[in-house]
Order: sequence, then C-alpha cells, then structure tokens
Amino acid sequence: MTVQTTQPGQSRQSAASTQNAPLPAATPVGYPRIGPDRELKKAEEAYWAGRIDRAEFARRARELRRATRTRLAELGLAAAAAAPESFSLYDQVLDAALAVGVVPDRFASVLGADGTIDDDGLFALARGVARGKGEQPPLEMTKWFDTNYHYLVPEIGPDTDLHLASTRVVDLFRESLEDGPGTRPVLVGPLTLLLLAKAQDGAPESFDPLDRLDDVVAVYAQLLSRLAAAGAPWVQLDEPALAADQRLDQSALAAALQRSVGRLAAGADRPQLLVTTPYGGIGDLLPTLLATGAEAVHLDLTRGELPTIAQLDGVDTVQLVAGLIEGRSVWRTELPTAAARLAELRRRVTEAGGEAAAISVSTSVSLQHVPHTLTLETSLPAELVATLAFADEKITELVTLAAGSVEPGAVDGPRSVPRTFEGVQVPAVRERAASATTADTERATYEERAEAQRVALGLPDLPTTTIGSFPQVAEVRAARAAHRRRELDDAGYEQAMKEEIARVIALQEELGLDVLVHGEPERNDMVQYFAENLGGFATTEHGWVQSYGSRCTRPSILFGDVHRPAPITVGWATYAQSLTPRPVKGMLTGPVTILAWSFVRDDQPLGDTAAQVGLALRDEVTDLEAAGIRIVQVDEPALRELLPLREVQHADYLDWSVRSFRLATSGVETATQIHTHLCYSEFNVVVGAIDALNADVTSIESARSRGEILEAIDPGAFPRGIGPGVWDIHSPRVPGAEEIAEQVRRARAVVGPERLWVNPDCGLKTRGYAETEASLRHLVQAVREVRAEAEVTVVA
Ligand code: GLN
Ligand code: ZN
Repeated sequence: MTVQTTQPGQSRQSAASTQNAPLPAATPVGYPRIGPDRELKKAEEAYWAGRIDRAEFARRARELRRATRTRLAELGLAAAAAAPESFSLYDQVLDAALAVGVVPDRFASVLGADGTIDDDGLFALARGVARGKGEQPPLEMTKWFDTNYHYLVPEIGPDTDLHLASTRVVDLFRESLEDGPGTRPVLVGPLTLLLLAKAQDGAPESFDPLDRLDDVVAVYAQLLSRLAAAGAPWVQLDEPALAADQRLDQSALAAALQRSVGRLAAGADRPQLLVTTPYGGIGDLLPTLLATGAEAVHLDLTRGELPTIAQLDGVDTVQLVAGLIEGRSVWRTELPTAAARLAELRRRVTEAGGEAAAISVSTSVSLQHVPHTLTLETSLPAELVATLAFADEKITELVTLAAGSVEPGAVDGPRSVPRTFEGVQVPAVRERAASATTADTERATYEERAEAQRVALGLPDLPTTTIGSFPQVAEVRAARAAHRRRELDDAGYEQAMKEEIARVIALQEELGLDVLVHGEPERNDMVQYFAENLGGFATTEHGWVQSYGSRCTRPSILFGDVHRPAPITVGWATYAQSLTPRPVKGMLTGPVTILAWSFVRDDQPLGDTAAQVGLALRDEVTDLEAAGIRIVQVDEPALRELLPLREVQHADYLDWSVRSFRLATSGVETATQIHTHLCYSEFNVVVGAIDALNADVTSIESARSRGEILEAIDPGAFPRGIGPGVWDIHSPRVPGAEEIAEQVRRARAVVGPERLWVNPDCGLKTRGYAETEASLRHLVQAVREVRAEAEVTVVA
C-alpha cells in the first residue's frame, strides 16, 4: 500500500507542527452526538422512512458535525486534537467493528465488492434486513458497561475476514480539518472490542473472540497509519474493559494489553496514542498500561482512586489525562476539590519522576451520557440549575480547572456542588427511612403465601399474563401529548385513557388471558412517569441522551428526598379492575430501575436513595391492595444493569437493591401476590438476588437466549413462581402456537406446572396490535394444548 503524504485540507496546518505536540490541557473523553435538538435522530428517522434521500441525510449529518466542532471550539477546545471526534451514525462499538471488518458471515452481502461497507450497510447491521431483501435480524444489543447506553454486540468467527472495511474515522478527521484545526479521532480499542464481542453462530465451541486479537490489531495498525498520513497528531483508543472485571484475570489482561496497545505503540507509522480507561479504576494495571508505549493514558478519577506513587511507575514517559470531572452525572463539579485532587496527582507524578505540568484534565467517561446543554432548559428551578452541569457546562469546568485559576480546597471534599435548597432534605422522609426495620422487608413464608393466593385468586395451572404495556397506538400518544400541551383538558385526557384501558381489557378477555393488565397507556416511559408523580424529582425539557441508535431518553433528575404526595396508579388500575372479574395486575416500576434510568443525587449513598424510593412505592402498593387489586407487579428490568463492574462491590449492591425492592413490596397481606419482571437474558450473576427479592412470581426475558435461563433456575434454589418469556417481543415475528407449546413443555419439565407462568418476554409497548393479537392468541392456544396433555397424563 502506498501511503499518501499530502491530504486535502491539511494545507492550513502543517503536520510537522502538531504531530508530536502534547495533548491540550483540557479535553473530554467524548461528547454527545445526537445534537442539542436531536438532529441526528430526526435525520436518521427521516432517511429510514424514505422522507429524505441519501444526499440530504449526508448533508444534515455533515451540518451537525460542523456545528458540534464549532461549539466545542467556542467552549475552549479550539486547539488541534482538543475535541474528541465523537460522531457516530449509530454506535461506537459498531464503528470499531466495521473499521476492522468484524462483520458476521450472515451480513456478507452488505459488504461492497471491494470489501468496504457504506452507511446503508452499517444501518443493515444495526437494524436488520427486512423480509424480501434477504431477511436478517440485526446485531444483538446490550448495555454498555453499567450505563443505560446500548451497544451492538460484534459477532466474529475464526474465519472472519478482518480488513479495513470502513475508513470512516479517517474521513471524519479529514473533514474536521475543513472546520478547524482538526479533532482527535476516537476508536473503541481492540481489547474492548473483542471482550465485548461474541462468537458468531457456527463457530466451534472452543473459539473465543480474543483468539483473533493479533489479526484485529494488525488492521488497527493499518488504520493508524492512514490516520498518520491524514495528519492526525493524536488518536484515542477507548479501553473501558480495563475498568471492569472480565473473563480474563489481571495477568491475562495485562498480557493482552501488551499484545494490543503495546504492539500498536511499537509501530512507527502512527499518530500519538491516548488510551482511555473510563467507567472505573484500573488499579494495578496502570504500570502495565504506562509501559505499553502509548504517549498518553487517561484515568477515571471519579470512580477510581488517585494512583499511588508505586502505580505511577513508568509515568516519566507518559502524559496523564486526569478524568476528574464526572462525565455521567448532571451535577456541577466542586472545583476546589477537583483542583486539590489535581494538585495531589501532580505531586505524586513528580515524585514518580513524571512531568506534572503535562497532565491534562478530562472527564471520567464520555459526555455522551449527559444532555448537550443546560442553557436550553427554561423551567427548572433556579436553585437546582445552580448545581447542574450538562455536557457543555462540564467542558467549561474542564477549561476552568485546566487554567489553574481555581484555589484548591480539600482533597476529600464533596465531588459536586452541595445542594441545600428546599426538597433536598425532607425530615419526614428521612425519619421514616431511618426507622424502617428488617420486619418491614419480611412477609409470611412462601408456602403460606402460595396457599392463601391459590384460594384468593383461583388461577388455573400455567396461568397466562403479559408484562404490562400494550401497543402504544398513535391516538394514545397524541392524547398524552395534547394533554401535556394543555390542548386536552384533564377530563378529556382521562376519557381517552379509559377508552384505551377498556379496549385492552376487552381484548385480553377475548384472548382468554388469566391475569390482565390495564396496558399502561398513560405512561410515556416507565421511569419518567413515576418521576413526574413523586416528590424529589425534576424533569427537563431538552435533556435527551442517546439510548441506542436514534433512540433517546430524557432521564429525570432525582435531586431530593423522594416521597409520594398522592396515589399515582390506583385510579387507572381500579378502573381496569371494575371492567372484569379476572384479576388485574397493578403495575409499578421498582426502586433500582427508577434510580438506574434517572440522574441520581450523589450526596448520599445510592442505597439510602433507593430505600426512600422503596418506601414511597410501598405506599402505592398498599393503596392498590386496599383498592381491591390482588396482584401487584414491581418491575426491575435494570437490576442487572446497575450491578457494579467490580465483583468485590456486588454483595453491597445486591444488599441495598434487594432491600429497597422488599421495602416496596412487603407491606401487603399474605394473599396479595407480588410479581416482578426482569429484562435481559444475561442474568445468571443476579439469580441469587432474584431469589432474595422474595417476589411470588418473577417473569423474565428468555426467548432470545433459548433455555439458558431454565438451566440457571435450579428448582431447589428458586422455589417460587416463574414466567420465562416465550415470545421475543423485540422482533416483529409472530411465534407459532406449536413453537410456544414446545417452550412451555420444556419449562414445565424443569419448573413444574404449579409454579410456571406463561408470558411474553417484556412489555408490548413497541409492538403493533396485529402481531400482538396474533402472538397472544398463539400463546393462549399453546397453554390450552399443554394443559390438556397434562390432564391426559394424569388420567393415564
Ligand atoms: N411493565 C413494563 C412494560 O410492560 C415493563 C417494561 C420493561 O421491562 N422494560 O412496558
Ligand atoms: Zn422487560
């Protein structure tokens, strides 16, 4: 390959002047890419729907990148390489996978004749290929570390043809030279890429994606040489896998680091390397990382501790990038504390023989987890605003800190600006939480409960139910939006919701389901709905963050003591129950999930906040019961997601998370049945906690991970009701009755007919009515068949 030495756009900046310049004094790990007005989402959805053509889509994406670069320069990241190039059309893991050709065989047809992949190919992997065009499900999606961002899981096999399949990162860098002095290209690093990847279907049992490390590194090396040729002084490799406990032990991880980053750093034809380690501390891996030859190393100093002098061995040849500003919270940084920690780090670096003056200040993680800017918010209380910082405000903090003008305070001072206004401390809430005892988390034995519930509910074997939401049709969303804008009055809104509830109840009766739901039409989002109705939360107008691809959420801000001023769901649930003799499940979101999907206060332990939420929900649960609701479901889909990345912290987490759920659900009578629902198949790690939740019935996602869940559920260890999902609601596919019956038979063989429930994998909110009706009809039919077989067996 001949390397071009002159590139378009490079003329305004001579490569020689920047190619060994140090990193600027302030630089974040990453920046939001959806745009302050969700420009990316809007452009993508318009393009996918065919409302705009490819050229218009490209023009809008280009415009967003230009605006972002201009904004970052205005905020003080004007120097070459100061602004990370955070743009991604869909997901940064997918970008890295495509850059090095990690494209599973099943998508071979989206590669061009020259082995490259374009935007449409990228979207095909991300979103799947429709029937008629060679139907292919998309790459699997899962949570990125302990965040609410989802990445696409790369699939790789022993024979995957690894090659430069996309030079997007080079193109973006070249483009950035048209807008200014050039950004810093960012790529998920090779080690993290492979640790997050899975073996593609059909790969031998013994194959581990890491087996391809050398091959992947070879392609990264080619990419680095392209970037060097384009004139990039720095490239950032994100290696968050170093901050999480992985399937590799520390020494294997250290060796893999040497084999990846070490090998890349040994190459001559490359930009300078910054390796970031967001989402936690890397402890004793630091000396290995410092020895790889990378020119700069980033540390998350909000979750991780300041490195010791011993851990800084090797820092004399490396520029440290100190992640002192919390990148994933919305709280304004207590700058004197950050300045003191920076001063202490400088002292230790000097002592270890390094160059203290070279330290750059940074964020702990990419700012992709926080909204763009606080300046768009018009309705947040001023005292709250004074304690908040979104992405742009955090960049200003970085620049301020780097300028050295902040007088250092105490190293162990508060990490964020203290909040002291009304609602932060509510004495009655604190007293109640302080006086909660173990007795408040206990119920009668499961045997007593099961018997009382059998008598009270009179359900058949293999009871059928759904997870809560029904399809959110356009009229329902329109009514909610009109009510929010006050174009629809309360009475009109209530009427619209009641009509939908009546429709959903009638449908479920007609389908023959045993335990009904009201369908959750009044909820835009299962967390935001509760946040809006509980004290202690604030909601933003424009605080969007990317969840995955074009999907964004607007997390609420939990700033104060949480309490429930009035019942929230009781009216809807009792209305639904009034329409049918069958039991209607009350439907609540659990404390852990409410915390996980909100921005949470950092001025007290998470467990204390969770207990407050648990107690507020406890009032709702007992009010539902008093109003005649005999089954209440408390969803905890995020239980797995908040699990700390380090095993040593698991026990403490499981302790407080379980306690908060039990505080919410243990105030009811023996005959009242408590359900919980969990999402995400990879749940083996929390199986003990699920048991400890002490719910009478647990429904859990399982259709996508065929059988794995049943294997994890040892009937001896999990002696209560369980509903492994039998319909993958993430796909528009309608499962046949026979296919469902087969799953029910298998589950029944493991679990036994008395404890097995039959339900879909998750809520039906995102599905259409046609597929919902057909699938539920098959589900009920399947259960009838299996019940009939059981009767025959009993007779015989
Ligand atoms: N009850 C919720 C629903 O059905 C549960 C959603 C979830 O688990 N994510 O929508
Ligand atoms: Zn779910």
